[in-house]
Amino acid sequence: MKAIRRFSVRPVLPDPLRPLQELAFNLRWSWHPETRELLRSVAPDDWAAAREDPVRLLASVSADRLATLAADRGFLRRLGVAIGDLRDYLTEPRWYQQADTRAGGELPRCIAYFSPEFGITAALPQYSGGLGILAGDHLKAASDLGVPLIGVGLLYRHGYFRQSLSADGWQQEHYPVLDPHELPLAPLTEADGSRTLVQLALPGGRALTAQIWQVRVGRVPLLLLDSDHPENGPAERDVTDRLYGGGGEHRLLQEMLLGIGGMRAVRAYCRITGHAEPEVCHMNEGHAGFLGPERIRELGERGVDFDAALRAVRAGTVFTTHTPVPAGIDRFPEELVARHFGESAELATLGTEALLALGRETTEEGAPAQFNMAVLGLRTAQRANGVSVLHGQVSRGMFAWLWPGFDAEEAPIGAVTNGVHAPTWTADAMLRARAATLTDAELWDLRRTLREQLVHEVRARLRAAWRQRGAGQAELGWVDDVLDPDVLTIGFARRVPSYKRLTLMLHDRERLRGLLLHPERPVQIVVAGKAHPADDGGKRLIQELVRFADDPAIRRRIVFLPDYGMAMARSLYAGCDVWLNNPLRPLEACGTSGMKAALNGCLNLSVRDGWWDEWFDPDFGWEIPTADGLAAEEPDRRDAIEAAALYTLLDEQVGPCFYDRGVGRGGLPIRWLEMVRATLDRLGPRVLADRMLREYVTGFYAPAAASHRAMTAEAAGELAAYARRVREAWPRVAVEHVEPGTEAPTLGGTVSLKVRVALGDLDPGAVEVQAVTGRVDSDDTLADPGYTQLKPDGGPDLEGRWTFTGELTLHRPGPFGYTVRVLPSHPLLAHRAELGLMALPDGELVESSGVLFR
Ligand SMILES: *Cc1c(COP(=O)(O)O)cnc(C)c1O
Repeated sequence: MKAIRRFSVRPVLPDPLRPLQELAFNLRWSWHPETRELLRSVAPDDWAAAREDPVRLLASVSADRLATLAADRGFLRRLGVAIGDLRDYLTEPRWYQQADTRAGGELPRCIAYFSPEFGITAALPQYSGGLGILAGDHLKAASDLGVPLIGVGLLYRHGYFRQSLSADGWQQEHYPVLDPHELPLAPLTEADGSRTLVQLALPGGRALTAQIWQVRVGRVPLLLLDSDHPENGPAERDVTDRLYGGGGEHRLLQEMLLGIGGMRAVRAYCRITGHAEPEVCHMNEGHAGFLGPERIRELGERGVDFDAALRAVRAGTVFTTHTPVPAGIDRFPEELVARHFGESAELATLGTEALLALGRETTEEGAPAQFNMAVLGLRTAQRANGVSVLHGQVSRGMFAWLWPGFDAEEAPIGAVTNGVHAPTWTADAMLRARAATLTDAELWDLRRTLREQLVHEVRARLRAAWRQRGAGQAELGWVDDVLDPDVLTIGFARRVPSYKRLTLMLHDRERLRGLLLHPERPVQIVVAGKAHPADDGGKRLIQELVRFADDPAIRRRIVFLPDYGMAMARSLYAGCDVWLNNPLRPLEACGTSGMKAALNGCLNLSVRDGWWDEWFDPDFGWEIPTADGLAAEEPDRRDAIEAAALYTLLDEQVGPCFYDRGVGRGGLPIRWLEMVRATLDRLGPRVLADRMLREYVTGFYAPAAASHRAMTAEAAGELAAYARRVREAWPRVAVEHVEPGTEAPTLGGTVSLKVRVALGDLDPGAVEVQAVTGRVDSDDTLADPGYTQLKPDGGPDLEGRWTFTGELTLHRPGPFGYTVRVLPSHPLLAHRAELGLMALPDGELVESSGVLFR
């Protein structure tokens, strides 16, 4: 029989044990080993059954055990230390509060960080992959640094699916129900104890109501909206049923709830707790894009018109794009969006056409217009970035069409390379050991211990997986011999979109078999990953790999582990020697698993994509050469070339380096250990989420807060008026005459420049006149351009033209060229392409119009 309703009975903790509640409900335990150990010791035998989740553990512990602990002076002493440590952590000034951090100017009092998923701990499974884990690491690093962030997301009743395999290796999905009352959550409530609710108006007079759950992530509150509320009809209750609901309306409603509802939840939270209102909103990918229009609506209620409100909202908004794969970006048919906004639906006061224009993507002639969430993000955020240097560059190319007339390199999209949260992803043994103080023998021993732990975990997981695939216990004796703690171990785990090429290693099965079964230098491989439930192609790749690994001849050397998640990931990163990554360059925006591996002294073997393109060094691992020149036309040849390169690297470099234990070296692989140390000492500090967060604070949050403060309603109105004035005058703006000095061009010398420009009725302060300089190729295209600002020189001549002068420094030999251009200039513009206007010599004008350039 099945229960028709469930609820959980929470134990009442004896008074002396009350602090356990506080420790369990603040997820800091997930990255603080001492607290985790204390919580485990409440009932060590039940820790595994509680899936290492202290809230679940406390809910199941017996009254007897609690009584014993309440009288155990040693335990109470440790509890006192742990709770004291947490309270200090929550209140002491940290990096953000230090004087030198603040010296650069006033920092934002609050930043709201929106993400569709958050991977904080396996105990709160609200993530599908890299985007969510990154968001979790972002919150944790913000907490450690004292950055006043509020996280905003959705609470999914089923989270992401759990993966198992059928007997023939086909992915099976399960959606266990998560009961909020069994999770580390507390409802946000009003002063009278009633639940705080937010509401969205839906077409046809319906409403979508959501309650708000709070999660404590160290110092950072995370608000999760949940539509499973009795006031909703059945369809509305299901809006937050699972991560990335099916296409169309379900997904649109999720994103409306995240952006619009999320903003309303933040307002409610600040009202109830007295927390400072956010000065900056940061969108982790475009899913939360509707927060921009929602804030335009808010300003509209205070009498600010659309143009001025858009400027004010842009000033305080940061957008991070995460994918160069067009299919990875959410798009909705305009007709669907139109139905959910305007007249008797959401954001009625904005005007549906104005809203649609914010997300409109230019598509091929005749194709129905699409509403693109990344485009919405770029149009409503004054500052934007990609997630590695290479991805920043790829994104500028991908979105250059939004700034017509400007070179792709000038698109205002910067880069902050992702980072990972060291206390979460570094094995406890590695954290404790401090590698720099270890001898080679001790370091090698530590690496072996981590590898051996992984081997044991793999066997346990593999056995469970085979039981699920229908094997009997008696058939599984061989599992005890799977993997060898002394064999070179390679890890490959990630989601399974096609560009990540899960099965590249299978390209030449005989060669792979040869590597696995090599008599002196064998390798063993651990593979894991989930395919999107709707992606049969991905499921076929998994099946191919599983079937290959099922072969009794090699199954001791290669395994596929189902249900990749944070708990498994931690031991994989720590226990592998080599982390393999072979995406189709440049489609991996950053990739973070290799960074987590590096924190544990695992070497990287990767295509130079994402972060590895930036930080590759032969001391940190190996680069798999790419054949990206072949482009899309020849995917098979490209795979063949890159797979062959991978086998050769493994056979000729990676394997020999690992197994090189020459005499006189104490049986140690000296070069390998050098690389492990280089990875830990020199790469480790770069891949940190702390580093990433500091870059966001100084490069994005602080400038955005400054812009936001400067952009009062009055200033926004003034800027809007400036934009109108410049746009009107622009047809009369021209670079009329360029007169170089007569100096001979020598390296290190200068060339002086005198320029006459017509400005219509604008005065020189309203524009910037620039010389653009650089190398020139055979058709005179400027490469690697530099920009020199020219200065106004005297008043207008008789024909009303203004003179600008300046000097160009020649710091490169060879062909050199320059041009001159006029751009709008206003202190509240963050970027020179922002108004889409430019005037060049020969009367060439760029006058982009559209919502971005109002
Ligand atoms: C880090 C991580 C990812 C993302 O890894 P990529 O290298 O970016 O593909 C996905 N899932 C889990 C569980 C992770 O820990």
